[in-house]
Amino acid sequence: MTPEPANRIKIAVQKSGRLTDHSLDLLSRCGLKYTKGRDQLICFGENLPIDVLLVRDDDIPALVREDVCDLGIVGANVLEERRLQYLDEGDEAPFVLVRELDFGHCRLSFAVPEDMQFSGAADLEGLRIATSYPHIVRDYLRREGLTASVVEFSGAVEIAPRLGRADVICDLVSSGNTLRANHLREAGTILSSVSSLIQTPKAVPAEKAEWMERIKKRIDGVIQVSESKYIMLHAPRSALAEITRLLPGSEAPTVMPLEGRDDKVAIHAVCRENVFWETLEELKLAGASSMLVLPVEKMLY
Ligand code: ATP
Ligand code: ZN
Repeated sequence: MTPEPANRIKIAVQKSGRLTDHSLDLLSRCGLKYTKGRDQLICFGENLPIDVLLVRDDDIPALVREDVCDLGIVGANVLEERRLQYLDEGDEAPFVLVRELDFGHCRLSFAVPEDMQFSGAADLEGLRIATSYPHIVRDYLRREGLTASVVEFSGAVEIAPRLGRADVICDLVSSGNTLRANHLREAGTILSSVSSLIQTPKAVPAEKAEWMERIKKRIDGVIQVSESKYIMLHAPRSALAEITRLLPGSEAPTVMPLEGRDDKVAIHAVCRENVFWETLEELKLAGASSMLVLPVEKMLY
């Protein structure tokens, strides 16, 4: 695609970390083919007017806010921290949340030393809390009417209690293994996070707007597809209503006659949720037979 730098869409993605492979895979599934620049900081789109900037995740909200990038993919935890920081500085709309994506699930939780008595948020009163999310933690304390001191750490928060720098911590958790390895126990979640797509708050020039919309639609489609299945089965006419009800997340199934059979029909449906073995067993009990579940490759509405 002819490069016209001003009209090309720039998407900020984490350079190297937990979100990198998922983000690049999402863009590939939207049809983007790219080559990495020599400095490994930019991927130039070959077939679409889209370039990908590879940066630290913490920098993504600012790049989108300042309109250096049009779109960005970053965890809701980083977004919320920056949103509160910019709010303190008087900026109420630094970026637009386009949609949540389907990877990077984690939670921001308090964790306390294993042997510490701790029964709830009220026990935070007067303690020292180590965290890389000072704005989120201060906002939480304010809302709960608590006074505690926040000790900022840029990484390795979990060692703060052992170093005597803090009493408890507030950090990201997914499996809880890191906490256990550091003799800490999770003691309450303050934010559930998932990776998210954000957009610049500035008006997008007309030449770019059409591709921006197209890429957002494709992302919607890719995420729907990964959650969707196409199901085909045979059913007794008499059980049609019950079987339609059991199909997960399906709106209007197609019902077709079966040659030479008045009592049975074929049903085809797109299910917008995964189809589990339990659902197939229930369908069978309701009279369904010859069931096939197929993955959906592309979807566009
Ligand atoms: P960078 O060098 O880009 O600053 P980082 O060390 O801040 O990297 P990662 O550890 O790669 O970031 O995490 C990126 C994002 O992945 C987090 O901000 C969060 O949204 C998400 N995430 C999912 N699970 C976890 C987890 N168990 N621990 C930390 N982050 C997680
Ligand atoms: Zn980071």
